[in-house]
Amino acid sequence: SLHNEDIVKTLGIHEHDMLYVEKGGEIIPKITGVDEAAREEGAMPIKFVTHCPDCGTPLVRIPGEAAWLCPNKYGCRPQIIGRLEHYVGRHAMDIDGVGEENAALLYDAGLVRNIADFYILQASDLEQLDRIGPRSAQRILEGAEKSKSVSFDRVVYALSIPFVGETVAKKLAKGTRDIDTLMGMSRDELVAIDDIGPRIADAVIEYFSVESNREIINRLREYGLQMSLPEEEESEKSDLLAGKTIVISGVFARHSREEYKEMIERNGGKNSGSISKKTSFVLAGDNMGPAKLEKAKSLGVPVINEDRFLEMLTE
Ligand SMILES: [Zn+2]
Repeated sequence: SLHNEDIVKTLGIHEHDMLYVEKGGEIIPKITGVDEAAREEGAMPIKFVTHCPDCGTPLVRIPGEAAWLCPNKYGCRPQIIGRLEHYVGRHAMDIDGVGEENAALLYDAGLVRNIADFYILQASDLEQLDRIGPRSAQRILEGAEKSKSVSFDRVVYALSIPFVGETVAKKLAKGTRDIDTLMGMSRDELVAIDDIGPRIADAVIEYFSVESNREIINRLREYGLQMSLPEEEESEKSDLLAGKTIVISGVFARHSREEYKEMIERNGGKNSGSISKKTSFVLAGDNMGPAKLEKAKSLGVPVINEDRFLEMLTE
């Protein structure tokens, strides 16, 4: 609650106030009131910071959102370091050896000013730094090298485009297949991709409109990162499931759920999360929930197992 200026103002919180706290939804601590009788004499109302405590830039607030932001995205040290940390993270490029501390260290030493600089690091640069031993230096260099084979969708995620998390990055990668297409798309083209809304589209366009970001992309490409998804084998594609909406439920033995979802899409079908009248059939593994099974039955939706499904695709 205390990060939200509206709540602080509505409750009229002053410095050193005693507050009432309850667990919102039994979990999250929530400030619900102020004990005004306990207020210190002369205590001033809480004033929100107006400037970035790190770079001094006046803060801005996006209409409709609670958070105040430092708009100096590309010049504000903690934001730059945050993006470096995100880039090396396990779900992004997974560059071993660069944790939170090392990201700041490398940035402050002038060795890594942006994500592309990870690929020009030399052992001799790293060895000058007292806090990085030869073994971690080796790990960082190997990690950067290895990251060149990380798939395109994770590269998209690693760029730190606002609102582009792992799932959205996958959709963008799938919907565009390569970085040039992604960089050249209009707002209308972006929102035509499954699950991409105007807010994400605008963030993507804004990101690629910044010259320094385009330079970073070009450098990453030069260093040999994966800037496209591998070509799908035409022979693997079909329209066998065209017009079919399929719900996957349960645990499977022969392929993972993710693989089945991809198979459905490759063959022209559509995945859905819940059973309705529109469901063509349920692909059911072990332990399908009884409620789902009941629903499928009551709506007359066929339930098939994975062997039958795989047969369908070879027919
Ligand atoms: Zn700042």
